[in-house]
Formats: sequence, C-alpha cells, structure tokens
Amino acid sequence: MNISRINLSEKLYAMLSVFFGFAQRQADHKKLNRHILALNQKENLAGIIDEVSLCLKSILNYRLFAFVLEKGDGVDVWLDPRMYRKSLEGFILKDFNLKSPDQLNYINQTFVEGEVEKDFGLNQLISYDLNESSCKAKIYMLPSKTMFDYHDEIIYLVLQSAAVALSRQIDIENLKESAVIDPLTGCYNRREFENHLNRQIAGAFRHKTPLSLFMFDLDHFKRINDTYGHLAGDEVLKEVVSAVKRNIRAQDTLARYGGEEFIAILPQTDKTKAMELADRLRQIISTLRIKSQDHQIRVTASFGVAQLDHHADMNRLIHDADTMLYKAKLNGRNTVMPGLMKLCQSEECQPAKEFSV
Ligand code: GH3
Ligand code: MG
Ligand code: MG
Repeated sequence: MNISRINLSEKLYAMLSVFFGFAQRQADHKKLNRHILALNQKENLAGIIDEVSLCLKSILNYRLFAFVLEKGDGVDVWLDPRMYRKSLEGFILKDFNLKSPDQLNYINQTFVEGEVEKDFGLNQLISYDLNESSCKAKIYMLPSKTMFDYHDEIIYLVLQSAAVALSRQIDIENLKESAVIDPLTGCYNRREFENHLNRQIAGAFRHKTPLSLFMFDLDHFKRINDTYGHLAGDEVLKEVVSAVKRNIRAQDTLARYGGEEFIAILPQTDKTKAMELADRLRQIISTLRIKSQDHQIRVTASFGVAQLDHHADMNRLIHDADTMLYKAKLNGRNTVMPGLMKLCQSEECQPAKEFSV
C-alpha cells in the first residue's frame, strides 16, 4: 500500500515538474522573444547592453552581471551597480590583454570609493564570449537559481542576437565617425566644423554670450617634410594636435581646416581670452620636441583670432580669423594676431592691450 502511494506521488511529482518545466520554458521563450525584438530596435551600444542585462535578469535572475566590449585600445565596461568593481578588473585586464585599469571605460555608473558589494566567490562566476565581425565582447555572470539545460540555449540566443546588434551598431558608429573625423589627427574635418560653428553661433546669439575662433597654421611646414620626410611630417601634425587638445576645454571644438591648418571654436570666450589661450598654445607648440627616428623635430605655429560680432555670420568670422593668421605670418610667424601688448611702467604692468597691424 505504502509503496504504491509513494510511487503515485513520485509519478505525480515527475508529471508536474515536466508540466511546470515545460510551462516555464514556454514563458521564458516568450520573454526571450520580447527582449530580442527590443534589442534589435536599440540605436546605441548602451541601450543594447541594458537590454541584454534586463533579459538575462528576468529569465535567469542572475545575481551580478558585467558586460565588457572591446573598443579601440581599451574596453567599455557595463557593470551591475552591486558588483564590486575591483574584484572583476583583474579578470577583464587578463581576458582582454590590457595593461592598465585606465583602459577600462565604465559606461553605466560612477563608483564610490570603498563601496562594498555582495559577497561572491569568483569561482562562481561564469563567462561567455561574443565574437562577431566588428564586435568582441564578454559577459560575466553569477546566476542565482538552478540552471536548466534550456537556459544554455537561451543564453546562446541572447548573446547571438546581442553580438549581431552590437556589431551592426559599431559599424554604423564607425561610418558616422569616418565621415566627420580626420583620420590622421582625430580632429573634426572641415565640413563637421562648419556644422558645429553654425550651431554655436546660433547659441551665442540666443544666449548673448561671446564666441571666438582661433586658426593656426604650422610655420615652414614644407621644410619639415623636405628635411625629415612626409611620415615625420604626419607625426608632427599628430603631436601638435594632441598638445593642443590637452590644453583646450572639452566644450571647445578643434578641427583640421586644411593640410597643416587648424581651427577651433571657443564658446563663451571673448577675444582677449581667446588671444591669451592662443598665445599659450603657441608657446606650448614651440617647446615640443617631436621624436622621429634619430631626430627631435621642432615646429612653430602662427595664430589668427577673431570674435563673433553682432552682425557676423560664419563666413565672415572665419574670414576675420584667416586675415589675422595671414598678418601673423607677415609679422614674422610664431606669433598671435591680434596680439596682446603689455605696457610696462616701473614695476607695475598695465592691463594687456590688443595690437594689430
Ligand atoms: P608657411 O609658414 O607660410 O605656412 O609655410 P609652409 O611651408 O607651412 O606652407 P606651404 O603651404 O608652402 O606648405 C604646406 C605644406 O604642408 C605642404 C604640404 O605638403 C604639407 N602638408 C599638408 N598636409 C599634410 C599632411 O597631411 N602630412 C604631411 N606630412 N604634410 C602635409
Ligand atoms: Mg604652413
Ligand atoms: Mg597652410
């Protein structure tokens, strides 16, 4: 009697678990389809990663999750806010062959130093690779409930869809970037500069704030190419641009205007401030020692500065800066026009005055 009762409940249990297993599986697949649909509609990388995280959380109820996407010479990292960052960094550096944590760009949050997170053993961590034409990524997870066989299938489908969506998005972003960025120096190209300038001029008029431009051209650059070769010339262009970028604000826009001629938009900056900045950059450029094979190349630049006035349009503003640059060349190069003249009487210097020829 007893035996048959046990058999009956075992059978019932087995039937129920098959039924619930089946029902659960159906429900999970429905959720999966919804997430994959949403994933394919996202138009940026962070959106796609967010959706993957939501999907795996709702189906697998993972405890912690990190998504790492290779980008340039570093990686973008999306980390579950509860996850202790330091414990994972070592893994990421090793898995992606990186040298320093500086190459990790955290895209979803800022971390508070010393934050502590849920205890977990790193040996519980599971990871999956995503490899698709333009996308190399890895997902790290700590699942918290029993994994069924079909969960592997779900993870595989999510990751496959994520890899395709990410790869497509990366291609789109690269294309967009190649249309606006100068490949040698990484500055905006002239066309994109004009788009930025038009927007900035409209903003300056709307908010009644000053806006200035500086334009600079490397002095006797042809001689550098003739003496050290074109590749060395390219190196000089890159180094000069990176020195300038390090010394302007994030809201300033630097663009390559022509061969060895560059232009920058300085929002909320009047002409005097722009002239001061240009002169500082001129000095910085003149002190660079650019290594090329056995040589240390030195270079100087001439600057022209102009400020937007109440009736100026984009072409007039650029023309003013260009005229000033031309004057700087006539004035002996390695100089800024209009320039700042400090009149000194005894110990005290008078405020700077503008001069132009
Ligand atoms: P100036 O002081 O009057 O500006 O003299 P310059 O020699 O700099 O001016 P010029 O216009 O005579 O020569 C500019 C040179 O810049 C010639 C051109 O080959 C070189 N150049 C332009 N674009 C590039 C580039 O992308 N790479 C290299 N290496 N050289 C470039
Ligand atoms: Mg030149
Ligand atoms: Mg030139």
